[in-house]
Amino acid sequence: MSQAASRSSRSIGIDLGGTKIEIAVLDDNSKLVEHIHMATGPAGEAEHTLRELIDALREKFPAGSPPVAVGVGVAGQIDPGTGVVQFAPNLRWRHVPLRAPLERALAVPVKIMNDVHAATYGEWRYGAGRGADDIICLLVGTGIGGGVVSGGRFLMGHSGSAGELGHMTIDLAGPTCSCGNRGCLEAFAGGWAIAELARRRMQAEPGTGELIRRLTDGDPAVITAQVVSEAAARGDSLALSLQTVAGRALGVGIANMLNAFNPERVILGGGVMAGMPQLLAIAEREARSRALKAPLRDIAILKAELGPLAGAIGAAARARDLIRGAA
Ligand SMILES: [Zn+2]
Repeated sequence: MSQAASRSSRSIGIDLGGTKIEIAVLDDNSKLVEHIHMATGPAGEAEHTLRELIDALREKFPAGSPPVAVGVGVAGQIDPGTGVVQFAPNLRWRHVPLRAPLERALAVPVKIMNDVHAATYGEWRYGAGRGADDIICLLVGTGIGGGVVSGGRFLMGHSGSAGELGHMTIDLAGPTCSCGNRGCLEAFAGGWAIAELARRRMQAEPGTGELIRRLTDGDPAVITAQVVSEAAARGDSLALSLQTVAGRALGVGIANMLNAFNPERVILGGGVMAGMPQLLAIAEREARSRALKAPLRDIAILKAELGPLAGAIGAAARARDLIRGAA
């Protein structure tokens, strides 16, 4: 097989985040053959980021050996039909056409998707969801996103936004969420919320969170979920109680999802899950104590397997499968 022919069976996935871009190159057997890491251009400057991305891809795939498909996962609201990024808060992009300029520059079919949908697809096809027809993937990072595969179909919903599992209400009177609603799952267990709850508790009870205070030199502005995780690992009682709150909230959310979708596996990934290893067990205990009997039969609640490259791998696989009519 010639070099050009072997290259042209590859597909590319791009995970476009607020500060970094991960690019995964998959061969025809879906094996990850290359990984490129780039910094995202300045926020709000879509043209700059797009130009650098196109340059990097052209260098990798010179004319004459294009990949079969390019998939791009973006954190934000996407119109999958037009390939326009409607709103990506981390990138500060509004109404940015992404598919058209990429297709024009690369002469390759391009699919634009939500980044969490891409990661869910990756976990489904090649990670902890392999071989299952009914999975729910929950990615707990700064925010909480999700994806649902039901009966072997990846659920997009009527307008492409299915899977916003972080914004299910779990407490009528709970704290205000980034979306404006009260009591969302994300407002208890998202990374920003864990940091915010730590700040509030330390302000209300000055004697608590001693280790968090020490780790941040007494500056509440620099408290992050990562700091809380570290303090929890070292036994700080406030950090441990926030971990319990986040874990139980996740468990309540998972119980709702089990009742609604009756999945075979629930897969938990994202930076907060990685930083707080106890979270999964706390969430599982809570979910098992609340869900109905039928959906609990045979359920497996598992850690995600693909790590930070799930989005890029999933974007490549989903774009390729969509183009082949297999997704
Ligand atoms: Zn919300």
